[in-house]
This record gives sequence, structure tokens and C-alpha cells, in this order.
Amino acid sequence: MAPLRPRISLLVTDLDNTLWDWFHMWHSSFSAMLEHLSEMSGVPSSVLEGEMREVHRRHGTTEYSLLLDELPSLRSECAGLRPLEVFDAAVHTLNHVRKRSIHLYRGVESALTEVRRRGVPIVAYTESIAYWTEWRIRETGLDGVVDVLYSSPDHDFPEGVTPEDLRRYPPQEYGLVETVHRHTPQGRLKPDPAILGAIVDEYSKDPEDVVYIGDSLMKDVAMAQEIGVHDVHARYGVSQDREGYELLRRVSHWSTEDIERERRLARRPVVVPTWTARECFSEVLDMFEFQG
Ligand SMILES: [Mg+2]
Repeated sequence: MAPLRPRISLLVTDLDNTLWDWFHMWHSSFSAMLEHLSEMSGVPSSVLEGEMREVHRRHGTTEYSLLLDELPSLRSECAGLRPLEVFDAAVHTLNHVRKRSIHLYRGVESALTEVRRRGVPIVAYTESIAYWTEWRIRETGLDGVVDVLYSSPDHDFPEGVTPEDLRRYPPQEYGLVETVHRHTPQGRLKPDPAILGAIVDEYSKDPEDVVYIGDSLMKDVAMAQEIGVHDVHARYGVSQDREGYELLRRVSHWSTEDIERERRLARRPVVVPTWTARECFSEVLDMFEFQG
């Protein structure tokens, strides 16, 4: 049985599908872009999906900004021009729907504000890449609410291309103003207990003074349990059974083993969370006594 209201002086949280519905944002924008792209190019979606998966795997992310330029069937349609330019309308669809569909889950903002009011620092730890994580933090108003963000660095770029080349807006539209952003080493994905342990050490906390919350039993809860911090499963964010999740499996950078492991765990959970937030993030306020 879980202990009664442990005292917590550091909150570490996952981001995607814990603070906001990444899957909804990704699926609505990506599927709209895919449909538009297939219409414009005449290349069937199934062909594009297979090629997208290859590119995502090559770059280790499902949020690769130069995706269209590296799809063989689009390149052959473009006769030497850049697919990103030729199919700009589909990219516009992606950006438009993405911006419209990113929101914090209900109760997240007020709960984080309350945790901070009690003097407890908030650290975010995600394996998503730097650029899109910063974008989501800005769009959801969490710049400055999260004290420190740990994310994967940005994906690699082809020779001669820099991240600045992709920018369409003035510099102040990029980066974070108040939240400190640190990068985890390239290629280190969750579960990575050593990284979570290093975060706890950096704040000179004992594991029992720390809570970690995330939506993945495999990546988040198991990792927290391994280093002995309090674990909370954000069950409201689980999306593996949702409509459209198969599209993510088909085009994501995940290895076949990752996908199989996730399926096995969904059928027969071997990771049992100590605490579960069933409906919303703010349930953590009832589970723990936050005090800095
Ligand atoms: Mg997550």
C-alpha cells in the first residue's frame, strides 16, 4: 500500500501526454499533412508512410523538420526542386493544425502554480527533441513555470543546413526566456535511470523527497521505481488504445522491438505504479505534501 502523503521537495515531470496531449496534437496535424501531401503528389499514403518511417528512424525522431526533402517518392516528383518548397501547402497544413491542437490538460497549470507557490522546484524531463519541446512550452505558457527542462538535443541536419535556415520568424519567437534548458546526451532515450538520478543529485535530494510523474509504465514509472523516487502513473494520458495510434506505430522512429515491448506491456502490465493519477495531473496535490 502506498504511504500516506509523503513530503516532497522536488517535482520531476514527463511532458508529452503528461502535461499536454502530444498524441492528439501529433495525430491531428500529421494525418492532415499526410492526406494533403498524398492529394498534391498523387503518391499513395501507404508509400509515403513507409518512406517516412525510414527517415524518422535514420534521425531518431518522429518530429524531423526536413522530412519531406528526404522522401524518395517526393524527390522523384520534384525534378530537382526541394519537396519542402513544392509541397509547402502541406507543410502549412501541418503547422496550422499543430498550433491549433496543443493544449495543457485540464488542471495542469493551476497544479504547477500551486507546487511552485509552496517553494518546490519543477523539473521537466522529456526524450522529445529540443526545438519542438521549446515550442510546446512556449505555446502552453509554461516558460518560467518549469524551472529546468531536460530534453534530447535537436536532430542532425544535412551538411550545409543549420536550424536557423528553417526559421521563418524573428529570433524572439524562438527559445525560452525563463526556463533553463539542458540537453541530455544524444541518443539516450527513456527509460534512463542514470539521467533521472543525475537530476535528483543535482538538487541534492534524497530519492524519497522527490516525485516523478509520467504516462508511460515502461519509460516513466519503471525508471522512477528503479532509482527509488515516488512514482505516479499519469493514466489519463495513455494513448496506445486510441484511434490513430497505429499511424504513429507505422511512421515513428521506434524500433520493432520497442513497439512489441509496448504491446506486451499493454496486454500484461509487469510494472505496477505506486500511485495513479486517473483523471488529471492535479491529483498529485492530494497524494503528496509539497513543501520546499
Ligand atoms: Mg510521455
